[in-house]
Order: sequence, then structure tokens, then C-alpha cells
Amino acid sequence: MRFAPTITGASALGLALSIVAGCATNPATGEKQFSLISEGQEIQMGREADPGIVASMGLDPDSARQRYVRELGMRLAGVSERPNLPWTFRVIDDPAVNAFAVPGGHVYVTRGIMAHLDNEAELIAVLGHEIGHITARHSVSQMSRAQLAQIGLVVGSVLKPELQRYAGLASQGLGLLFLKYSRDDENQADELGFRYMRRVNYDARRMPGVYTMLDRVGQTGGGGRLPDWLSTHPNPANRRATIERYIAALPADSLGRIVNRDSYLRQIDGMMYGENPRDGYFKGTQFFHPDLKFRLAFPDGWKTQNQRQAVVAGSPEDDALVALTLAEQNTPDAAARAFFAQQGVSGSPVRGTIHGLPAAGGVFRAITEDSSVLAGRSLFVGYDGRVFQLLGYAPQSRWSARAPAVEQAIGSFDRLTDPAALAAQPWRLQVVTLSQGMTLEEFVRRYPGPAPAAATALVNNVDADARFSAGALRKRIVGQPLP
Ligand SMILES: [Zn+2]
Repeated sequence: MRFAPTITGASALGLALSIVAGCATNPATGEKQFSLISEGQEIQMGREADPGIVASMGLDPDSARQRYVRELGMRLAGVSERPNLPWTFRVIDDPAVNAFAVPGGHVYVTRGIMAHLDNEAELIAVLGHEIGHITARHSVSQMSRAQLAQIGLVVGSVLKPELQRYAGLASQGLGLLFLKYSRDDENQADELGFRYMRRVNYDARRMPGVYTMLDRVGQTGGGGRLPDWLSTHPNPANRRATIERYIAALPADSLGRIVNRDSYLRQIDGMMYGENPRDGYFKGTQFFHPDLKFRLAFPDGWKTQNQRQAVVAGSPEDDALVALTLAEQNTPDAAARAFFAQQGVSGSPVRGTIHGLPAAGGVFRAITEDSSVLAGRSLFVGYDGRVFQLLGYAPQSRWSARAPAVEQAIGSFDRLTDPAALAAQPWRLQVVTLSQGMTLEEFVRRYPGPAPAAATALVNNVDADARFSAGALRKRIVGQPLP
């Protein structure tokens, strides 16, 4: 988790949509498209979704890199069939290998995918593919009005997570924006990306390299992270072959020339690689947060997740949840009173201390919107100028079985004092010029790092038995193992 960003005035999406169904010819695909949603509504939807995405996922803080991606994206969008959409291109501060698009002209690439791309032409291919989803209106034509209304409700609740029954609710809400594309949509977005790429004279022969990389990341799990891109972009093996057929069918001099490998690698030199431990990290079920200087321990076997605005853990049986967030109030007492004053929440908070820190809270019962009853324990702790909110709860029928584990987890909140954990730093990519040819194995020996050799192979998009030639730029991973 990070310092909780708060967004005010983010209105619910799409609730005021009028029911005007239309059938129009899509300018990118030339197909007749039936849609409930006008272009104006599509733009409005994107404009309202974008701040929520930025707040919940975070941006890469490097402004030069943001500008670089924005300029490339704008150039590509400018040669698309919908150049006048209010296009935005953002680098998301997320180690997962992912890229996605939101209707109305918003395209996002993660630092994770940028770390694994080899050159500017590959980045152009990724951006072109996402632009293709927007110009062809893939999400918009799939969405029903009911889904639109739901997006509004859920994106709203992402920004102020209180009593959510399931930890995954926030990401499920955003997930509605990222409906799974059909195989036909994927092929069409590939074709459009290929088209746009050639229009700006980038070497389309570099596009298949992106699929090779995605396949490799998919096979290895990308260093522990699920390849999110694959969850919204089904990746049948034939997509690479299809692009290779397009390439083979065209004269070489029409395929574009620009690759810009070295300049791309300079853009990502020094970029963070993997999770940022400053935002907190897990060792087993122990959680450490160097920036906020606290620690927490969950019972063995619990499933843990460090989200941007919360640390969450669930029981192995999926019937209890503990979530830590930052409260908005200035004192534990005020936070506890605000919590218990909510409609549907009952219980009597008491003041006390935990490990010498001022605290308030108590057991509670809560009735959710769908009328089920939860029982749980709340704890609000004042520490280092902030108020931490810990909530643990289960369906009432399961509470007595889960209460001991929940109490144990909540009661483990304490100051982080271990100097090594407090000093934990993220790993970074470093681009090096090879003075001589070498195998990947020799490269990893010569440029050792904290990550396994397989991770170095992945960021360089090569197999374990690869050989690098002299003079080439290659990526290594630098940093210290987490304490
Ligand atoms: Zn796609």
C-alpha cells in the first residue's frame, strides 16, 4: 500500500446514459456496429474512468518516460481513423506485464511491460494494438447498460474502500472496464496495430517479438506475477503466425524502417524492476512497510495481497478477511467513532493501546447491502502521524471459528524497527554495453544481481542458452535481496 490518494468529485459513471441504440459504420474496421453508447458517452466514460485508474494503480513517477510514451502514442493515434479522440497515454507504476485501453482514447502500459520490451518498434506495436481496441470500439460494443451502471458504482467504491465483502472487489470493478476481448477482437486489434505501425514507418517485423516475449512471460509466470495482459488478451498461438503472414505478404520496403533499440533502452535504463518494497512487501505471511514503518503478521496459510491502498489477507477457507488501510480521521478515537456511526454497523468502541500505541476499536456486526450479516473486529491505531485502520471480519456464522486468527493478525500490528527492512530498496534495470560476446550464463556471472538468472533472460527476451554479441546493449537487474 502507499499513502492513500483521495479523489474527490469522481462521479459515478454512466448512470445518466440515455438509451439511444445506434448502428454505425466503424471508421477503423469498416464494419457496421450496433452500440448503445454514442461517441460522446464513450468519451465521457473514459474521462471519468481515467482518474480512478490512475489513483488505484499509480503512475510511473518518471516524467521524461511519461512524455516519451505520450509522444509516441499521440503520433500513432494521429494516423488512426479516430485522431480527434481526447487520447491519453500513461505509464502505470505496476511491475505486471500489462497494457490496456479504456474506451474514449485512454491507453496504459505498465513499467513491467516496458521492462520486457526490447525496442521502440515493439512499444509502438503494443500501443498500436491498444489504440486498435479503441478505434474499433471493442469494449464499447460489448458493454451493456447494466454493466456501465455497475462500473460507476464499483469504481466509486474503489476510491473509498470501507466494508467490502471480498478483497478482490476493487479489481473486479476495474475488471469490468477491461472486458475480456474475443479472439476476433484480438486479431482485429493486431491488424490495426500493424496498420498504424506501418503508417508511422516503424519496422513491423519487430511486432512478432512482442508475442515471443508475452509467451515467455506467460510460461514462467513473470517472476511470480500473473501475466495480466493474458487475462484480458487471449493469446492463441496463431496470433504471432498471423502477423508473420501479413509481414511475408508485403514487400520489405513497405514494412517501415524505424526500430530505435538503443534510444528505447536508454529510456528504461534505471527504471524500477519488480515490486517496490518501499510500498511494503511480504516475506511469507509477514508484512513489512519501510515507508510507513509498520509490520504485521498473518496466520500461516492465509492468502495475502499488498494492494495500492490496502494490505489484505484472506483465510485459506475464503471465509474471513483482514484488511489494513489508512483512516481519514486524525485520531484513533475519531476514526473508531466514524466507523461505528456508519449505517448498518453496530458495536461499542473502546479506547486502549497496542504495543504502547494509542488505539481504539472493538467487535462489530455489520449488515451489508445485500442484507448478509458480518461479524468482526476493528482496531484503529495512531502511529507516526497517521491512523491505521485494521478490520477483520467473517460471515456471522463463521466468526467464532475465525475470530482467533483474525484477532492474532490484527494484534500483530507494530512499529517496524529492523534497520535492514527500513532500508529496503527496489531493484532496477541497468543497461550495459557488452565489450565482448558472451552466453547468458556468462552475462549473469559477469553482471550479478538479486534476481534469478531466468528473470534476466526474460527481460532480454531470450532463452537460457542464448548468446549475446559484442557491442550490444543488454539489460541487467541490480539491487539487494530483500531483508
Ligand atoms: Zn488486445
